Amino acid sequence: MGDSYQAFHRRSIEDREAFWAEQARRIDWHKPFGPVLDYRRPPFAKWFVGGETNLCHNALDRHLAERGEQPALIYLSTETGQQGSYTYRQLHAEVNRCAAVMQGLGVKKGDRVLVYMPMIAEAVFAILACARLGAIHSVVFGGFASHSLAARIDDARPKLMVTSDAGMRGGKVIPYKHLVDEAIRLSATPPEKVLICNRGLDPGMSWVAGRDLDYAPLREAHLNAQVPVAWLESSEPSYILYTSGTTGKPKGVQRDTGGHAVALAASMEYIFCCDPGDTMFCTSDIGWAVGHSYIIYGPLLRGMTTVMYEGLPIQPDPGIWWRIVEQHRPKVMFSSPTAVRVLKKQDPAYLKQYDVGSLRYLFLAGEPLDEPTARWISQELGVEVIDNYWQTETGWPILAATPGIEKLPRKFGSPSFPVYGYDMRLLHEQTGEPVGANERGVVTIVPPLPPGCMTTVWGDDERFVQTYFSGFRQQVYSTFDWATRDADGYYFILGRTDDVINVAGHRLGTREIEEAISTHPAVAEAAVVGTRDPVKGQAVTAFVVLKDATQTQTEAGAAAMEKAVMATVDEQLGAIARPAQVHFITLLPKTRSGKVLRRSLQALAERRDPGDLTTLDDPTALEQVRAAVAPPRKK
Ligand code: AMP
Repeated sequence: MGDSYQAFHRRSIEDREAFWAEQARRIDWHKPFGPVLDYRRPPFAKWFVGGETNLCHNALDRHLAERGEQPALIYLSTETGQQGSYTYRQLHAEVNRCAAVMQGLGVKKGDRVLVYMPMIAEAVFAILACARLGAIHSVVFGGFASHSLAARIDDARPKLMVTSDAGMRGGKVIPYKHLVDEAIRLSATPPEKVLICNRGLDPGMSWVAGRDLDYAPLREAHLNAQVPVAWLESSEPSYILYTSGTTGKPKGVQRDTGGHAVALAASMEYIFCCDPGDTMFCTSDIGWAVGHSYIIYGPLLRGMTTVMYEGLPIQPDPGIWWRIVEQHRPKVMFSSPTAVRVLKKQDPAYLKQYDVGSLRYLFLAGEPLDEPTARWISQELGVEVIDNYWQTETGWPILAATPGIEKLPRKFGSPSFPVYGYDMRLLHEQTGEPVGANERGVVTIVPPLPPGCMTTVWGDDERFVQTYFSGFRQQVYSTFDWATRDADGYYFILGRTDDVINVAGHRLGTREIEEAISTHPAVAEAAVVGTRDPVKGQAVTAFVVLKDATQTQTEAGAAAMEKAVMATVDEQLGAIARPAQVHFITLLPKTRSGKVLRRSLQALAERRDPGDLTTLDDPTALEQVRAAVAPPRKK
């Protein structure tokens, strides 16, 4: 392509509309767009105005003539032992069947469909069926429990929910449908129908007459269905994906249709260096943004084969991923630093048993990638490791090497440079002025955000502006991440500026966890912080004040309460948010105005200097925290 990264990036900003108009040729438009960008109401950006398209058409129908017999989706489960593959033609047929079933249940354009599914092919059918009908899917990660699910139901108000009897993790059956029943019971706006893909994993599953429907016979009834795609105006929403923030209420990240398709299609070439016919293996889950973009939409929009895996990276043994690579020959893998750190602790011989020669790149994202982990995996695999930085909000990388444009040297610990389309500034937290080389600043993006990024918070435009665009004097999008940029322009992400924590690449809001803990009747208040963890990046550490402190005076009493707190979080939010440690104290360190000194708590929990304590109300609180986090004395 001959362009230099810099020229390419500059053009994407300075000649924004021409740049994206060119990229828009990557997808089919049923009706051509007029203006490339409507930015009359900043910071709301509308891309490809008036153009009509459809994600399912672009992911499937468009490829049928040329690659109908090529595998589109390979799925395998080491939990159930199932595996299989769907060509583009077969996947297209399955999606039509699923769309016909949904249509029969009254789902139409603009309706929300909440998908709460394990990593099975039917989840992909359901998601693409929504896209076909112009219905808005909202996938909720299967690790979230009933209260989280209920909060998302009440915000999205789905017409239909699609679920399974169960998922499996490490050989353990996880009853999804049971959690759905519970969530619907808690919800103020329950869906009319629940469509169930019954895997036969949970024989105890109950059916609610008139509401619950078995997918298998409905599919049989629509084997030859041909459902026409619903053409959507480019800005119409394709999906909602909830993510945690600093409040207890998750935000519904809303994605458009045309911008989303164009951004992902372009990223497959420029960032991931993939051609049609190539295979990608992304180890994320469909419940996360990475899964939406790079298990489902990105590879299919590009006419590639995507590999979907249900199982752990270390079961049946730590060689499983490399066995999958040997068998299915992906050119590109996408995973998380935590997963690689887990593998690093295993016997390296597992890596050597398999032929991983098909792999060219391993992309890692979701959390900071430390140098030893990057070095290790890159040497062991003999492939280039590409750290890329992004957020649920953006849906595709903000910072990354773009080897499809120009191969530039990379530095360990850095996700390299701003990706084309992103006009980035590192700003001083207080003054809002750009910081100099190697100075810490907040990562911000000058709007309009490029295609594919969130267009608003579902149902709450005001929250979109308030949350993301009001931190600085000038209107810029804040990522809420700290970073530095060195003299060569390489960025280094230093962590969040807010109370969001990152456990194994999963984003958790401390407020949500505190609220969950506080629902336990014995709890008076709680403060949650993220503390350094060698494998997961951060771990959840909770400080809990009980109404009756005598409950934890004995070791047995404390152990029982700790279990109860953990169980409460499991039940409310899901095991992913479960605290690794629970400390009982009688007073939280607060300022005189009653704000919890979270940063000091975090510092003490990591045995660091607690910093500025001039606003601390009662110093005895700190002594309690120090004593609570001190390593137990050897007897
Ligand atoms: P999520 O929206 O759950 O993907 O979380 C996004 C957050 O994860 C970002 O705001 C960062 O704090 C963190 N993150 C994602 N990718 C990276 C990366 N490559 N390096 C450092 N932090 C990252």
